[in-house]
Amino acid sequence: MDVLEKIVSLSKRRGFIFPGSEIYGGLGGTWDYGPVGCLLKKNVKDEWWKDMVSLRDDIVGVDAAIMMNPRAWEASGHVEAFVDPLVECKICHKRFREDHFKEFLKSVPVGVGNVAPKKEYQDLFICSNGKPHALEKLTEPRVFNLLVESLIGVTEPKEKIYLRGEITNGVHVNFKNVVDSTRIKIPFGIAQIGKAFRNEITPGNFTFRSREFEQMEVQYYIRPDEKEGEKWFQYWKDNRMEWYLKLGMKKENLRFRDHAPSERAHYARAATDIEYNAPWGWSEFMGIHHRGDWDLRRHQEYSGRDLRYKDLERNEEYIPWDIESSAGVDRSTLFFLIDSFVEEEKRIVLRLHPRLAPYKVAVFPLVANNAEIVTKAHTIYKNLKPFFSATWDDRGNIGKRYFAQDEIGTPFCATIDHQTLDDDAITIRDRDTMKQDRVKIPNIVNYIKDRLEK
Ligand SMILES: [Zn+2]
Repeated sequence: MDVLEKIVSLSKRRGFIFPGSEIYGGLGGTWDYGPVGCLLKKNVKDEWWKDMVSLRDDIVGVDAAIMMNPRAWEASGHVEAFVDPLVECKICHKRFREDHFKEFLKSVPVGVGNVAPKKEYQDLFICSNGKPHALEKLTEPRVFNLLVESLIGVTEPKEKIYLRGEITNGVHVNFKNVVDSTRIKIPFGIAQIGKAFRNEITPGNFTFRSREFEQMEVQYYIRPDEKEGEKWFQYWKDNRMEWYLKLGMKKENLRFRDHAPSERAHYARAATDIEYNAPWGWSEFMGIHHRGDWDLRRHQEYSGRDLRYKDLERNEEYIPWDIESSAGVDRSTLFFLIDSFVEEEKRIVLRLHPRLAPYKVAVFPLVANNAEIVTKAHTIYKNLKPFFSATWDDRGNIGKRYFAQDEIGTPFCATIDHQTLDDDAITIRDRDTMKQDRVKIPNIVNYIKDRLEK
């Protein structure tokens, strides 16, 4: 079994992630988070919100509707962008026009190895495995409409709408509302976490490429100025990389990949991805994009509303530039899972950062048939719950309970034994070192808090 298969199997066995609508045979490209998976994912989002919004003065949040006026998707270019027949690579999922690909075929002997395609083709036509794209690895050409459509209204004809293909537009369309309703001043950001939907032709690699997924984004609005643009682009690159490292991702599994000019959208001034060294190859799960004033200018044009910002300090009016940082919640969650997965001789352990771990502490009565121990353990458990996400286990023997908690990454296991009844102390066992500490009951909360802060 490769690592991904092991993660998929662990996810199902322990309740992280299940295939969507499984009892009906599933629905391709959808996934359901189970009891511990939804906690892990929520912790990723909570940590993100804390660092992006709660602890900062320059970023505020919004929670915009998934369904939007279809004009918004015309403004963003999503509707028109998907009318050309495209082919998609089944390996790296890059899409390109079939006629462009045929020109490329004429220019190089594909599949012969050591080819040097023309420079303008290089980024587009070289696959993630470093080889040139071959025809048999591509899907049939078709008109891709990435946007998932729906119908609303009770009378016919119903109105066609789109489920949002990205969450960004819900922020831009509220730019004016946010400026007018808060005291926030440029430079400032608007954060949002929410679901988005895409008609992926080839969903795969577990939750990595799904039809329904969640994003967490900040649109950071700045003065339209080249130096400001460079400064904030670099700032968000560093800030975001640092965030994943702080939460325990291994440095060697992360890298930046700058987009070549040919890959960038025409309006993008700079773009870089943060990629993770996934079992199937380096994969993008977060992007930092210098989008200039493209989005707000388009929404201004399509809505007819004045979206300029009045800079009272400089006595100027302008459409701000936007430095976007956009991360996949599901992708981040998946990579935290993969990155923390360790197989030891006698156990599997998820070395998740304690702040991300679904449960911070598991409470065990050493034996299930001693009423005094069970009652004491239950009282401790109830008293811990207001402070930490906690779980209870009184099945089987202690070894089996440790084994189960290690597999879901619980950093601390607290055991109440016969001695507890005499000395008012319990044993706390550390997930990573497997060392045990004896801790007095009144000190348990502080003991765990101290270790979580580290
Ligand atoms: Zn490819």
